[in-house]
Amino acid sequence: MGSVVPFQDLNLSPSASTSLPSTNAAVITPPPLLIPKIEPKLEPLDSLVETPQSQEPQDSFFPDFTPNFVSNSEHTPQSQSSAFSSSQQDNVYSEYHRISELFRTAFAKRLQEQYGDVSVLDPDSRAIFPVGEDNSISSVLVTRPPRRYPKRSSDLVRVTDLGIEDQRYFRGVVRRTRMLYDALRIFSVLDEVKRRGEGLGRRARGDLLASSVMRDRGLWLNRDKRIVGSIPGVQVGDLFFFRMELCVVGLHGHTQAGIDYLPASQSSSREPIATSIIVSGGYEDDEDSGDMLIYTGHGGQDKFFRQCMHQKLEGGNLALERSMHYGIEVRVIRGFKYAGSFTNKIYVYDGLYKIHDCWFDVGKSGFGVYKYKLMRIDGQPEMGSSIWRFAQSLRTSPLSARPRGYLSLDISNKKEKMPVMLFNDIDNNHEPLCYEYLARTVFPPVAFNHSSNGTGCDCVSGCTDDCLCSMKNGGKFAYDQNGFLLRGKPLIFECGAFCKCPPSCRNRVSQQGVKNTLEIFRSRETGWGVRSLDLIHAGAFICEYAGVVLTRDQAKVFTMNGDSLIYPSRFSQKWTEWGDLSQIYPDYVRPSYPSIPPLDFAMDVSRMRNVACYMSQSSTPNVLVQPVLYDHNNLMFPHLMLFAMENIPPLRELSLDYGVVDEWTGKLSICN
Ligand SMILES: [Zn+2]
Ligand SMILES: [Zn+2]
Repeated sequence: MGSVVPFQDLNLSPSASTSLPSTNAAVITPPPLLIPKIEPKLEPLDSLVETPQSQEPQDSFFPDFTPNFVSNSEHTPQSQSSAFSSSQQDNVYSEYHRISELFRTAFAKRLQEQYGDVSVLDPDSRAIFPVGEDNSISSVLVTRPPRRYPKRSSDLVRVTDLGIEDQRYFRGVVRRTRMLYDALRIFSVLDEVKRRGEGLGRRARGDLLASSVMRDRGLWLNRDKRIVGSIPGVQVGDLFFFRMELCVVGLHGHTQAGIDYLPASQSSSREPIATSIIVSGGYEDDEDSGDMLIYTGHGGQDKFFRQCMHQKLEGGNLALERSMHYGIEVRVIRGFKYAGSFTNKIYVYDGLYKIHDCWFDVGKSGFGVYKYKLMRIDGQPEMGSSIWRFAQSLRTSPLSARPRGYLSLDISNKKEKMPVMLFNDIDNNHEPLCYEYLARTVFPPVAFNHSSNGTGCDCVSGCTDDCLCSMKNGGKFAYDQNGFLLRGKPLIFECGAFCKCPPSCRNRVSQQGVKNTLEIFRSRETGWGVRSLDLIHAGAFICEYAGVVLTRDQAKVFTMNGDSLIYPSRFSQKWTEWGDLSQIYPDYVRPSYPSIPPLDFAMDVSRMRNVACYMSQSSTPNVLVQPVLYDHNNLMFPHLMLFAMENIPPLRELSLDYGVVDEWTGKLSICN
């Protein structure tokens, strides 16, 4: 386990600050018991966010707001947050363990249900997902339990020296938390649409509802500690579509203020300390050149974000100054416009910066503003925002962005709707060129001879919730209106050739093919790997895992020949984790999934394969395998469709859990 390092300097009596190795420690003597007047530095890009007053986390700004705050021994009273103790470290982990345990028990319950007594409601209906009880969450949203979320902690800690296992563990917790956030967000919008009617659906703020529900359930991360520095489980380059998501994972604790900090009134040293900032380009005096950043303090703006009075050295401004004084790093999150998101913006975590200078200046408006010079700390992974820009240039002109290394600009030869690039700037290997590109899996004729083929729905103008194909999916489509996977299932029935619905039907998602520009690339760590030049949204379809299907008997022959076979049954069933709400709603009735035939075929990828074949193995993958049927109805032979388990930034490697590692060769399920 790593260690949690408190700021002993700050936790000592204020007089100790003069002994700090800081050049201006003696010059700036903080006033005792300073209670800042708070003016959140509002971010212009977020002005659309309607912040429901009653649902906002009222942490440091309104310390007395939380009447239902349950005193918890884990939350050290401020006066006791003095020296480092092992219990502080335990507390950080206990928070994760507590949330992790919530997930674990939920999954255990599901597995029990999945493999326990299951029944097919009507064997002839082919509805292998019976319509369970109404899983609507509206009742829960309406009758919310009394708030019991604790006040945000005032203990400043830094989490350091996490081992590989710890990093994986925390990454898993963050991912599950975000997955849950997304599932809740989508479900609550659908729910709102259902209750208020289609036309009003757009106003539903799933992002706010989801965060509010999660806060009520105590599922926000890092509320029991104020972490300075990196947040365990959050990587440089991680992308967020909503401000509230930043709060949920604890990256930036304020829903609107651009500077997050521990106020003086809560600080044991009586000095405010800044922990993170959001740079949205909304301040006319900000200058951003990536590694170096001139950040403008907050305050003095009117409601149109125009500077109309001088800023003061108080609140977040003072906190940044104090952080500079103590040499404390701050997390930098950049927000920028992105047409492909629901809110037209996106946030990227760019890592840790140190404040090197602070001065009072006359801004462009003619009013006085505080300015801070921040420099990015060396040795961190490349900034997400610069990768983002690079990916953009690759999409428009790959050869001028990367003159060397491209072996092919589309190895699919137009078999995919989007190009699949092949890039290697490491060695002379060009192996992927030796295979015939196969965009879709080839099934044996027996798959198409199934008795139930030839049936489909009659929805000429698009499918409705009560159509035949909806029934096959248990009365609920697997996708939302934007084509994102709502809930993983043992098998999804998309509309097919025998349906009368148009190609734009919401129940035709994975059959539409690849929508992002993918790139197979050579890496020193993983051999060949796959990444996307586009941002892939959590829940979005990526591509099929294609190959030539072999029956069990055929596979035996191939195995003797030592050819490359994929065994779909070995893929870890990550779909089970997608869209699971049971950890939120104890009374959530999970649809029971009657057993479907186990995947009992192999896929030969020895001569023909597609881009998916080059995805790397990971036990914490960012891509899941979801079985789908659409061109035939034979349950034995589903397509293996790949969906994103998280928002995958451009150029980040895609990974799958192949499930079984062959102990003889160490190779993954491409073995024998
Ligand atoms: Zn239909
Ligand atoms: Zn249909």
